[in-house]
Amino acid sequence: MSLIHLFRRCNQKCVFCSYPADAKAEGEGNIGSWLKEIAGMKPGLVQISGGEPLLADFGDLIKVITFCARTGRTVELQTNGVLIAGMKPAERAILVKAVHSAKGYFNFNFPAHNAALDFKITGIKGAFAARTKAVKKIISLGAQVRLTHVISELNCKKTACFAAFAAKKLTGLSWLQFSFIKGIGRAEGSRFTPEYHKAAPYLLKALDLCGKKGLKCDVDHIPPCFLGRHHAKNVDMAKMRAGIKGPHLDEKEKVPQCKGCGFFRLCPGPRKDYIAVHHSLRGRNQV
Ligand code: SF4
Repeated sequence: MSLIHLFRRCNQKCVFCSYPADAKAEGEGNIGSWLKEIAGMKPGLVQISGGEPLLADFGDLIKVITFCARTGRTVELQTNGVLIAGMKPAERAILVKAVHSAKGYFNFNFPAHNAALDFKITGIKGAFAARTKAVKKIISLGAQVRLTHVISELNCKKTACFAAFAAKKLTGLSWLQFSFIKGIGRAEGSRFTPEYHKAAPYLLKALDLCGKKGLKCDVDHIPPCFLGRHHAKNVDMAKMRAGIKGPHLDEKEKVPQCKGCGFFRLCPGPRKDYIAVHHSLRGRNQV
């Protein structure tokens, strides 16, 4: 799996953003440098990210996606969806066709189940309605859609509400990932990082609900010792079992409390930036 940041610019101000400050970075890439970067990547999945990738020139973005397709790479197009809502239908169809040609899928950053909470998190009025519209339109065009719901201090008690919203209003989703806030980038040392044991009960309810509704889901950045009956939904466990190397091994590290844990071999430990904020795994379940 490889990741390309087209640039830092974004049209939202999410409190949980793990990318450095919004600014027109010096030496910001262009279509030539993006294609060169992708050509140097190993085969497999390419995550096209930003900032917000849809801020790129539309033709250039299509070239990036189709280049991935031509070189046998699969694409995950990460977006907050706002700009997709405002596209002409023909453009949306071209975008979906390009992603489809790369055997890819859309990954929408979707942090709230209503407009008021969405505004608190993203700082953009109207973003919730636009995002909802975008997801529905993209699903209706036959694309695979994943949602990433980042859990932060602002929404952690509403996780089950989000699951209910997604299951009821966004039918046709391929899957939903609950991802805990990372304390890096704009969210470094964040006051928006809840303690795992405070967020977990709400997450477990959301996972139960997804199960009942038949909505496929998984979890990232919350260790299995907080996931109880849903521990197998932690995405690191499969990677560890298969011996896959990746950022999870750099970003996470076991702590003294991990000693004697039943998941010791299959878990890389909590995020280092979480421990920097909260200092321990307070409230973890003995497993
Ligand atoms: S290894 Fe540590 S972080 Fe991972 S599940 Fe066990 S106690 Fe939790």
